Amino acid sequence: MDPFDAPSPREVLERVSTLLGCSPTSSEVALYLDKHDELKHLREKFLIPKVAELPTSDLTLVDGTKECIYFAGNSLGLQPKMAKVYIEEELDKWAKMGVHGHVRGSRPWAWAEDTIEGLMANIVGAKEEEVALMNGLTVNLHLLLLSFYNPTAKRHKILLEDKAFPSDHYAVESQIQLRGQNPEQSMLLMKPRPGEEVLRTQDILELIEQEGDSIAVVMFSGVQYYTGQLFDMATITKAGQKKGCYVGFDCAHAVGNVELKLHDWGVDFACWCSYKYVNSGAGGLAGAFIHEKNAQTVKPALKGWWGHNLKTRFRMDNKMDLLPGVGGYRLSNQPFLLVCPLHASLEVFAMTSMTALRKKSRLLTGYLEFLIQQYYSKDDAQPQRPSVFIISPWNPEERGCQLSLSFSLPIAAVFEDLERRGVACDMREPNVLRVAPTPLYNSFSDVHRFITVLGSALAARRQQQP
Ligand SMILES: *Cc1c(COP(=O)(O)O)cnc(C)c1O
Repeated sequence: MDPFDAPSPREVLERVSTLLGCSPTSSEVALYLDKHDELKHLREKFLIPKVAELPTSDLTLVDGTKECIYFAGNSLGLQPKMAKVYIEEELDKWAKMGVHGHVRGSRPWAWAEDTIEGLMANIVGAKEEEVALMNGLTVNLHLLLLSFYNPTAKRHKILLEDKAFPSDHYAVESQIQLRGQNPEQSMLLMKPRPGEEVLRTQDILELIEQEGDSIAVVMFSGVQYYTGQLFDMATITKAGQKKGCYVGFDCAHAVGNVELKLHDWGVDFACWCSYKYVNSGAGGLAGAFIHEKNAQTVKPALKGWWGHNLKTRFRMDNKMDLLPGVGGYRLSNQPFLLVCPLHASLEVFAMTSMTALRKKSRLLTGYLEFLIQQYYSKDDAQPQRPSVFIISPWNPEERGCQLSLSFSLPIAAVFEDLERRGVACDMREPNVLRVAPTPLYNSFSDVHRFITVLGSALAARRQQQP
């Protein structure tokens, strides 16, 4: 019986431990899972920092020559090895041919984005013409809202999460102000039910049903940055559009993390950054999507020469021949140095598929969840023992790779200790760790090592505070 055919991550782990004749918490299970990981070769495409290279490591506590435990891909993805090679190629080209680099080499600068937009389109489930790579995420969100948010007296609201990422909140707020509306009335902020952390799809649909006639744009994240919740984008899109709203998503935490089908779901617009799960480096080239059904009807409010049809762009006759759809939203010529690392990462994605990555991710994150539950479930008989509540949805279909762990104790000192022991993850005061095992380069052994190190960090903390 193939253990990987089991219906849930927990059952896979139980079958593997039975097969090996060991406890499901044994490191042998992790080694077995790594050995049978069909995507394990992809880790070699990235530079994994050594423990000693991280500025936070304390080499009296941990072996500096080991690879660090990098669970911060939700914040900044690791560097693809080919990034530097491609950047050097372009720097060489610039050194040797100057202006001729615009039209020569493997990434002619004048249409550098064209070499990679197809690869990106595959990752977000879009047609190539529906995707543009340009600017930063927040800039793209503004450009899209300038077209999709057209408030009227009756329909003037934007529906978004109460705890949306700050930049999205500010972007929406300022767009509402720009259009002469009042954020107090026009920003419809949706909160979870009292005592709950994530939004229920049913509640989202009810709110859209009730308020839809006054909503111009429904704008959720694809995956929530704080809770790790994966929204049901297909269902939300359908519900919003049925009420006459445009529906868009900020896919910053979804792209490269979960399967997206922006085209098939009929999403009106989307934007994302590429430096989280897509590993393009901080400030990397961001993405924008406009569905082809909007290509003729929705026009950019702001124009630049890069939105001009490429064939005639350089005639410079000042007669705009605007590219249809998202292509027409381009303003400036591309920063070729930003195209390079993104190209390197997208080539790694092209060696596999989001379906395969997602399959691994369910098990990898399921393994982390299983081990957390084994060691840190709340036990009323042992009130002194630290416990963890997992904020992220329990259902693997409703989350990406990230788990948000809420501890029963303040976490800042434990987090610092984790950092000293060669772990990179993220803390939100007072007691939440966000931990993202990414399927592209993290291993099952990383997860097992993390649990061991977490145990040491918590124990060290208790010794300090008897
Ligand atoms: C990371 C992130 C951002 C960051 O915006 P930039 O314009 O790339 O600085 C914005 N929104 C969301 C939802 C994010 O996750």
